[in-house]
Amino acid sequence: MILHIGIDDTDSPNGMCTTYVGALIYRELSRIADPIDLPRLIRLNPNVPYKTRGNGAVAMSFDVDEELIPEIKDVVLFYVNQLADFEHENTNPGVVFLEGSVPSELRDFSLKALWEHVGIEEAERVAREVGAEYFKFKLGRGIIGSLAAIGYPLEGFTYELLAYRRRENWGTPRRVNTRSVFLADKWAYPFSYDNVDPHKGTVLITPHGKDPVLAGIRGIDKGRILQVFEMVEFEEPVDFYQIYKTNQNTDDHLRPKKIGELKLYDSAVVRGRVVGEYWEVGRHVFFELEDETGRIRVAAFEPTKKFRNYVRKLLPGDEIVAAGGIKEHKGVLTLNLEKFYPVKLVPRIEFKKPKCPRCGGTMKSKGDYLKCKRCGFRMPKKLIPVEIPRDLEKKIYEVPPDARKHLSRPLVLPGGEEKILQQVDF
Ligand code: ATP
Repeated sequence: MILHIGIDDTDSPNGMCTTYVGALIYRELSRIADPIDLPRLIRLNPNVPYKTRGNGAVAMSFDVDEELIPEIKDVVLFYVNQLADFEHENTNPGVVFLEGSVPSELRDFSLKALWEHVGIEEAERVAREVGAEYFKFKLGRGIIGSLAAIGYPLEGFTYELLAYRRRENWGTPRRVNTRSVFLADKWAYPFSYDNVDPHKGTVLITPHGKDPVLAGIRGIDKGRILQVFEMVEFEEPVDFYQIYKTNQNTDDHLRPKKIGELKLYDSAVVRGRVVGEYWEVGRHVFFELEDETGRIRVAAFEPTKKFRNYVRKLLPGDEIVAAGGIKEHKGVLTLNLEKFYPVKLVPRIEFKKPKCPRCGGTMKSKGDYLKCKRCGFRMPKKLIPVEIPRDLEKKIYEVPPDARKHLSRPLVLPGGEEKILQQVDF
């Protein structure tokens, strides 16, 4: 008998991590049942407000002896009970069990949880319809992610190796040798990626919170991430590690939409024209984009750093393909830009003073007149339009690795351009 297990919402900013709970359960259950593949780390809608970090849920499937199912369920519920951070009001764990094959209805629910906002009651209804058993702790919001993680059609995937810390080190600064991470990355990139930020010279594999994760090593090749793990010199003990199969960096969250269709919490790819000049509030850069169905505010927020410089180069009338998540910013529906591609750029015209027609000298503005600095020749002010080259290329611009959403596919990976370029007719 196949048993699927989904777990979500066990963590809070104060600690814990659902992948840690999942990894312990996977290890424990692997003693009494046969795992079908690796455990799965499924990132769902990145724009929902309840998430702690990357809206991740965990699922795993086992081939089990039917008589062991009650014991297995007890093990899972025991771990969640023992480890979830129940103190935090935003931690509302949910556990789901499903026996047999995954019905298409559950797959549809899963994609809905990736693309839209769903409620707890809807998850309960779907669970009942597909015959899944669910356990809610507190509000039990976690059943949404648990159910969706079980039903997720993981067609494209990447891997993440998660190494965990000993309990006595939780909450202390993580100790990893920076040089060793750079060396390992140099060797493995791009099969393992996002290990370092080469521009800032920083290590990206270590998170900063109080959770049990020591490091996360991502890649498209399981062998390479294992070797990166071997090469990295950890200066504190690794408690244990687990490789997850995941929908991270697949761009699965992006769907083509018309601007008029965009709703709060959507993630989408749209094509439109830039309306008006960009403006800045604090260090965030904003502009507006429209197509024949509507208009949306677009933002490149401060953490996207140098990416904002490319956004500042856009001019009114430029046609672009833009990808990102829809959130409300100061009461206005806003597309948080993840990637963009300039489809058609308007010419950039600047008006320049002519050279002196008499001596070729430089002219100076004097009210309505121009006066030559060298020979004093005067003439009415008539400026010449000059086309300045646009310094934006026909390529996809993406936010830097530390500002990238978990689901967003880095351009360096195969298929990283696909979702955007599908919207361009070459
Ligand atoms: P981490 O990345 O460390 O695992 P997290 O960011 O996953 O943390 P959670 O603690 O899992 O955050 O909280 C996310 C909550 O949102 C869960 O309860 C999950 O069930 C719920 N959820 C997931 N997708 C949706 C959705 N599409 N609509 C509404 N709620 C959702």
